[in-house]
Amino acid sequence: MAKEATQTVQIGVAADGRLPLPWLGETLAASAALAGAHALLIHGPAGAGHLEFSLLLAQATLCEAPGAARSGQPCGRCASCHLVATRVHPDLLLVLPDALRVQLGWVDDEDSKLTKADAKPSRDIRVEQVRQAIAWSQQTSGRGRGKVMVLHPADALNGPAANALLKTLEEPPGAMRLLLTSADPERLLPTVRSRCQRLPLGLPPPAQAEAWLREQGLAEPAALLALAGGSPLEALAWAREGMGPALLAELPRRVAAGDASPLAGRGIPRVVELLLKLAHDAQVLAAGGAPRFFAAQHLPAGADPAALRVWQQALLRAARHDEHPWNAGLLIESLVTQATAVWPRPAAGVPLRGGASLNSRA
Ligand SMILES: [Zn+2]
Repeated sequence: MAKEATQTVQIGVAADGRLPLPWLGETLAASAALAGAHALLIHGPAGAGHLEFSLLLAQATLCEAPGAARSGQPCGRCASCHLVATRVHPDLLLVLPDALRVQLGWVDDEDSKLTKADAKPSRDIRVEQVRQAIAWSQQTSGRGRGKVMVLHPADALNGPAANALLKTLEEPPGAMRLLLTSADPERLLPTVRSRCQRLPLGLPPPAQAEAWLREQGLAEPAALLALAGGSPLEALAWAREGMGPALLAELPRRVAAGDASPLAGRGIPRVVELLLKLAHDAQVLAAGGAPRFFAAQHLPAGADPAALRVWQQALLRAARHDEHPWNAGLLIESLVTQATAVWPRPAAGVPLRGGASLNSRA
């Protein structure tokens, strides 16, 4: 079975001028001050909308409406804006890891091998992709108004790919603009970082994030937004994976009791991320602080610090090897079983998995 797109991204402004994500407007306005910069590093916390923003800025840079260049706002109606929105603009090149293109469904017929069920598309931006991009950058502009190359995320450039890009980054041919994105700029080669001007992209304030999530159909977005560290895109992704406020409320105690069933069927990276967040909050709570991802009243008390450290180490080991040859179900069971050492055993009468309780078993 072929892989299907699992993520959707609105490209550029809608014809009525609506932004793809409402919180991008401020950064777009700020970008006007950097209109002369030929290489921009768009950086901010994960889930801020880096791809949406870089495409919006690409659209603004290429927009052919009078005044667009000065205002930094794409019109959303001219031929160029339309070509950007449909991903066929001859002067816009998106350089993304193959794995992300598959996730987005942005693959064409030549890529059929990427979408096979057993395909392992690369998570890196490969040096061949950069070489092709450089060759593209040397061709004349299709519409005669400059060109834009988006590299997203730039952290995915592997060593050879980053080195191959340096010369183009320093002196882009013609009127070309490079837009690099990163949620973790410190991971980029210093030689890449130093050649870019920085444009920070932030997460929206919680009220705006919650309002946007309600528009996306989430009735009670607050708990998911907290789990997502304030990123509405990430909160929406959790919701689409079947995570909701009720499940989130009971998850910490069920994990503490060794019940892995709420995590069944989820991918290892997501489960490990969730358990690391739980471990983080347990640690903060034990130190008398306020938990960040889960509500304090939903966290079991009395975590044993030494056992917690052991569990965290096991989770971090699992996070480092997120493409496991092992059976995902077994690994998740094992990680949850290890959690039972962290918290004191539940008192008699507390339901165990499958609805059985210690009392009814006795
Ligand atoms: Zn336009």
